[in-house]
Amino acid sequence: MSDQDYREVDPDEVVDISDEVIDEVTDKNKSTDEKKDNKPTEFCYICHRPDNITGPLIKMAPGMSVCTDCMQRTFDSMGGFGFGGGDNFKNNMDMSKMPNISFLNLGSLFGEGPKVKNAHGPQSAKSEEDRPAPAIDINNIIPPHKIKEKLDEYVVGQDYAKKVMSVAVYNHYKRVATGTMDDIEIEKSNMLMLGPTGSGKTYLVRTLARLLDVPLAITDATSLTEAGYIGDDIESVVSKLLAAAGNDVERCQQGIIFIDEIDKLAKKKNTNQRDVSGESVQQGMLKLLEGADVEVPIGASSKNAMVPTTTINTRNILFICGGAFPAMDEIIKSRLNKHSSMGFMADLKDKYDNDKNILQKVTVEDLREFGMIPEFIGRLPIVFATEMLDEDMLVRILKEPKNAIIKQYQKLLELDEVKLEFDEGALHAIAKKALDKKLGARGLRSIIEEFMLDIMYEIPKDENIGQVIITEDYIEKKGGPRILLRTTGLIPEKAAAN
Ligand code: ADP
Repeated sequence: MSDQDYREVDPDEVVDISDEVIDEVTDKNKSTDEKKDNKPTEFCYICHRPDNITGPLIKMAPGMSVCTDCMQRTFDSMGGFGFGGGDNFKNNMDMSKMPNISFLNLGSLFGEGPKVKNAHGPQSAKSEEDRPAPAIDINNIIPPHKIKEKLDEYVVGQDYAKKVMSVAVYNHYKRVATGTMDDIEIEKSNMLMLGPTGSGKTYLVRTLARLLDVPLAITDATSLTEAGYIGDDIESVVSKLLAAAGNDVERCQQGIIFIDEIDKLAKKKNTNQRDVSGESVQQGMLKLLEGADVEVPIGASSKNAMVPTTTINTRNILFICGGAFPAMDEIIKSRLNKHSSMGFMADLKDKYDNDKNILQKVTVEDLREFGMIPEFIGRLPIVFATEMLDEDMLVRILKEPKNAIIKQYQKLLELDEVKLEFDEGALHAIAKKALDKKLGARGLRSIIEEFMLDIMYEIPKDENIGQVIITEDYIEKKGGPRILLRTTGLIPEKAAAN
């Protein structure tokens, strides 16, 4: 054999091969006669069937082409070795979630797979006409107070956070709409949101993205690692956004990426090891936050030679990072105490001990002290904190938002023509239980679900029941709910449960 047979494979060539495959696939659409004229018959390397029976073959190497059936069978058979293929493929495992393993979707080569819009072709998963009109048009963006009004319909309290976000989003999309203004370039409004768990950080971002009708990708910072290590590459957040945008590159480039648990990326103290999931990830995110061209796979979570890719520019993508930042309160307290213990202004040492919203006093120095690197903080110019939810706010969350939990249950029972009511005492009892759980508003649903199970089970049994009133005693497990009968209007003290 000549030297040429043993030469090293140039990575560029790998891409060329896949291009060839795609070219071949587009050939599929040509008529068979046309093919007969131009091309000799080829045979599948595995089943030996000719290509006029199998359809176009996939060229694996010179002189070795395989039909799609054999290729698929090979992938499926890998399921038998625990790789999650075959019939169990869909049920048992989501390969896309496995680090550094990605399978070729043959459909994608033949035009059935993910299509990318505004990059190589005109299609997208959801056509423009199908999409309902957004509450806020990002091309004709409404002023911040109107954005906040819209947020108020869904998010209870958190007035400061809503105000900051409304202004940031307003400025961001103005910047997107105008491009650059003369030689003054408007800085990106990336945000860093601190706040206790369950205080509505994710919910605020979700609501905002829904109102603006922009795609949203939510990622957990703990799953990210420096490229080459087990875990998701930092750039995978952009592929998630592309998927959320229905593979529409233009929509993706105006979307929002929310990276939760960002505090877990803090620089580890007193360690000599390479910090592949902390400080390095902060470093790796710098160019994304600022704006860079990123090559992302279409319809897959990791790049490989067989998966088509597209380029996304992150310049207009709004990044919002969130985290609970435990122990940050101690850092802030010690800074404040240091200042206030000097001179005439000396304060009591425990002045800040009972300040539940001390996170709102955070500064850049505190974030550095916590372990966030200065370059990273510098790319998140808007820093703010959500409030700790108290009992009254939890009660309002139960009943006020447009899609409040209580309204959802009322609607469900309305379908059975039964009226559901919660008395004030019951709402406060539920809120107190949620506070005890220390899960913020996240605990509310599980508490309500526990009490509503019996009601939802028992009520449809008796057609005479017209109204149910959930009482404090029922929540405290000291009594039952009050039931009003449809016919008589009497109020028998009847426990639906037990
Ligand atoms: P975080 O991200 O801060 O840990 P989430 O945003 O996931 O908390 O909140 C959990 C759930 O609690 C949300 O899905 C939402 O239903 C509810 N919730 C939290 N805060 C609020 C709020 N201020 N107004 C309305 N609902 C809220």
